[in-house]
Amino acid sequence: MRQRIAVVGGGPGGLAFARVLHRHRHPVAVFERDPAPDARPPGGTLDLHEGLGQLALDKAGLLAEFRALSRPEGQAMRILDTDGTVLRDWRPRPDDRANPEIDRRQLRDLLLGSLDVQWGRGVTQVVPKTRDGVVVRFADGRQETFDLVVGADGAWSRVRPAVSSATPHYTGVTVVETALDDVDTRHPDLAQLIGDGSLGVYGVNRALVAQRNSGGHVKVYAQFRAPLDWHTHLDLADVDAVRASLLALFDGWSARVLDLLRHGTAFVRRPLYVLPVSHTWTHASGVTLLGDAAHLMPPLGAGANLAMLEGAELAESIAAGAEDLDEVVRAFEERMWVRAGRWATITAAGLERLVSPDPAEALALFDEVQPS
Ligand SMILES: Cc1cc2nc3c(=O)[nH]c(=O)nc-3n(C[C@H](O)[C@H](O)[C@H](O)COP(=O)(O)OP(=O)(O)OC[C@H]3O[C@@H](n4cnc5c(N)ncnc54)[C@H](O)[C@@H]3O)c2cc1C
Repeated sequence: MRQRIAVVGGGPGGLAFARVLHRHRHPVAVFERDPAPDARPPGGTLDLHEGLGQLALDKAGLLAEFRALSRPEGQAMRILDTDGTVLRDWRPRPDDRANPEIDRRQLRDLLLGSLDVQWGRGVTQVVPKTRDGVVVRFADGRQETFDLVVGADGAWSRVRPAVSSATPHYTGVTVVETALDDVDTRHPDLAQLIGDGSLGVYGVNRALVAQRNSGGHVKVYAQFRAPLDWHTHLDLADVDAVRASLLALFDGWSARVLDLLRHGTAFVRRPLYVLPVSHTWTHASGVTLLGDAAHLMPPLGAGANLAMLEGAELAESIAAGAEDLDEVVRAFEERMWVRAGRWATITAAGLERLVSPDPAEALALFDEVQPS
């Protein structure tokens, strides 16, 4: 008899897991809290690495479709001084497919395909090791039982407490996100400043990053070191007040760069939280975690990639049909912990250098990662 398998969370990790199982004709229940695919704005662009996210898509049989949708030119990266001087202007070769960008909505739709996701099914608790298996409790009061429950429910996972007492902590860095639409027609100067991919401007303990999405949409991230309650004097719904507060924080920067904030129409506060580096747990039969639920780390281009590869690898191992599901999960966890620990160390150090008292650190990091 086939094992009863559920995944909680329809983000990149949960969907990659379900899609690879689906490809191998293994049934899986997918529970997602959002009531519908477009219930929330999907977020900014993602770069998918050849050996991580792209490998996961290959395992799902979706690599060719990804290549058709993604934007290799979006790998371009420009770095400016706070006075607007261009310090680095890196462009990929035309055949460079190492880390192409894709909009999150496009990636989600690609992974979703014909998957049967149960929308609006928020999980409140997972209880392992009952007589019938692992019990999943839902916000609507219902419950269901499975042989394996995979927690792919992100930073504030409701599955995680079934295996670990760890909770995310604040990094000391807050991001305030805004966006520009139709940048090529409405803000041609900014479109030129940003180029085809990303723009980064690094000052003392703060940075401004702008990233092109498809269709002339640009996401702008103001990043700065601040206490968690930085915003308490502000009404976050008051767009003008938030904009003015950000402009004061970035006072003295080039007017052209600050236009990225001046033209932003809405602002969303995102304090950066992380789980402890190398977060592991004592294996518990019938429950595991992947992606941000297992190893939330600073957003430096690894999280979605890792979540997807973990999902795809676990699904492949399950589909291979080993008798002992528990052994499959144990082996998966050991492998995930080593790889994620490595990335958590890299991204934690990266955040320290990108939002740093010494802006030269950000440039040095870029030169190490992207030697010309
Ligand atoms: C600004 C920013 C930029 C980033 N850029 C990149 C990048 O370029 N490359 C990269 O690899 N990573 C990037 N990341 C990180 C990446 O977004 C995450 O690591 C990735 O989304 C994690 O995927 P996941 O599937 O584990 O979790 P999530 O994407 O968080 O998905 C979790 C899903 O679970 C659902 N859920 C939550 N709770 C419940 C519940 N109780 N019951 C049911 N469902 C639930 C949520 O609604 C969500 O759909 C970035 C992050 C940020 C903030």
